[in-house]
Amino acid sequence: MTLRDRHLERLRTETFDTLIIGGGINGAVAAASLAGRGAQVAVVDRGDFAHFTSQASSNLVWGGFKYLENYELPLVWKLCRSRNHLMKAYPDNIKQIGFYATLDETSPYKPWFAGLGSLAYWIIGMFATRRPRVLSTEHIEREEPAIDTSNALGGIEYYDGILVDNDARFVFSFVRAAIDAGATAANYVEMVSAERAGGQWTVTLRDVDTGETFATTARTIVNAAGPFVDGVNQQWGLTTDHRIVYSKGIHLVVPRLTTTEHHKVLAFFDDSQRLFYVIPMGRRSVIGTTDTRVDTPFTEVTDDDIAFLLGQINARMDLAAPLTRADIIAERCGVRPLVVKRRSGDHSDVDWTKLSRKHAIESDRSRCVVTVFGGKLTDCINVGEEVAAEIEALGVPLEPDLHNWYGEPAAATRDEFYRQARLMQLDRYRTKADTEPLTDRLWRRYGRRAFAMLEAIREDPRMAEDIMGSADYLRVELHAAARTEMVTRLEDFMRRRSKIDLVVHDDDIRNSTGLAEVAEILFGTDAERRLGEYFGGVDDIPPAVRAELGLAGAG
Ligand SMILES: Cc1cc2nc3c(=O)[nH]c(=O)nc-3n(C[C@H](O)[C@H](O)[C@H](O)COP(=O)(O)OP(=O)(O)OC[C@H]3O[C@@H](n4cnc5c(N)ncnc54)[C@H](O)[C@@H]3O)c2cc1C
Repeated sequence: MTLRDRHLERLRTETFDTLIIGGGINGAVAAASLAGRGAQVAVVDRGDFAHFTSQASSNLVWGGFKYLENYELPLVWKLCRSRNHLMKAYPDNIKQIGFYATLDETSPYKPWFAGLGSLAYWIIGMFATRRPRVLSTEHIEREEPAIDTSNALGGIEYYDGILVDNDARFVFSFVRAAIDAGATAANYVEMVSAERAGGQWTVTLRDVDTGETFATTARTIVNAAGPFVDGVNQQWGLTTDHRIVYSKGIHLVVPRLTTTEHHKVLAFFDDSQRLFYVIPMGRRSVIGTTDTRVDTPFTEVTDDDIAFLLGQINARMDLAAPLTRADIIAERCGVRPLVVKRRSGDHSDVDWTKLSRKHAIESDRSRCVVTVFGGKLTDCINVGEEVAAEIEALGVPLEPDLHNWYGEPAAATRDEFYRQARLMQLDRYRTKADTEPLTDRLWRRYGRRAFAMLEAIREDPRMAEDIMGSADYLRVELHAAARTEMVTRLEDFMRRRSKIDLVVHDDDIRNSTGLAEVAEILFGTDAERRLGEYFGGVDDIPPAVRAELGLAGAG
């Protein structure tokens, strides 16, 4: 029986203190904080965990330097505190990174003024990062020759945090923490309807993978449906003071644009005087983001979006050849769920980028529903704590918050892992020179679960081999993913537990040796079906993969 099957069985048979609808960052932290404090919790998502907004972020953990432009000082202060807290709790997963902003004649601020802003940001951020600096044009030319300085007046450098892996994996780490604390979690399970009677909710759920519907019961509900919270509340006849409006943002993943030694985020003002970024992602750069008002959460990257971002980059960077559509390796697109007061009109006359990015949490005491509106990855610990406080106020008894439901294991545990890895010379198994040491990688991605990986490699060194030529994943990681990461479809692994789909060209994936073995480890006898689902049909499985699977029709 798979992990998901076991959890589906629990959904069918148990009654929960709280059922959480939505497994993006807000639902995931709610599950981790409630389960970590002793509640009987279930969390479901109609897609994979983090498959919607939470996989489309900029991967930044930041205090919101750009919100200083709107003088949102309390928000910046709060976000800086959240950033500091998160960076302290996740020292290996969130790293400090420099933001290298170049300013020219068309920028809204002169370098000296931006320098004052960065100093204020550093002070508001309680000096938790490296000190900001003002950059001359010569500095910029010397330190990052890829920036076109022909119109530059200078720049600034300030610091924030970046998720080393990706947002979706970070979200999953909270789902995993919730499971470790006894929570029930299932992806591809949709909340179809819910009714409250006799002091509890009876919720009809649908297994999206099989089409089966079944009921579960819970005393309270957390609506963490992100851009869909209003629709879900409406379905239950619930009225709220807040509602969501949408701002679309896109990123494009392209080959690395900066020099290797310069591991920084480049920041520029675009033609509409909004900040946009070139963000490092391993051997790639991620360019973005846009901020466009839209009326639906379902969006896609348009030709205009691409033309806009490529144009902005080519105008501000001195690349060997201009960036073109052919350079795009992957696209990311999502809507920021922004919170507004329901009675405050339709906001059609408001500058969209100036709408606040705060979250709001509302509780309906008679129906026992807590709704999370908006939010940021950066603020996730606060969301977890605030949701738990609301659920406690609804009568679910919780253990005291010892703040141990989040964060990486203690330094002593880390030291022991590094000691064991050193003794068995784990890093000698690394085959690609331009990748990080395996010890760092395994510890960051798996924490305590990485001890079992060392054991498996000691027993069978083949477990330390790269499983796919084009990606940085060991065989042992796949076995762990199959057992513990609730990978239901191949895309869950390729796009969210790992970031292979984001950083490897489609063609390289299609021709990659090892993909069939990946599918076999993850899905056993179901490998062919899952590969077919991933490639858009069993007949579309590439010949190289078919050959590896031993299927007819292999090229
Ligand atoms: C372009 C962009 C860049 C961003 N950059 C950053 C950044 O760098 N740093 C930062 O801190 N924040 C950033 N954000 C903000 C952050 O990503 C979002 O605020 C956050 O991910 C929202 O999470 P969520 O859990 O509310 O929503 P989601 O991640 O959308 O999760 C909601 C989930 O609910 C599920 N759901 C809905 N209805 C049902 C149902 N009936 N049954 C079951 N499941 C259901 C959906 O499937 C979905 O997975 C960015 C956002 C965008 C769009």
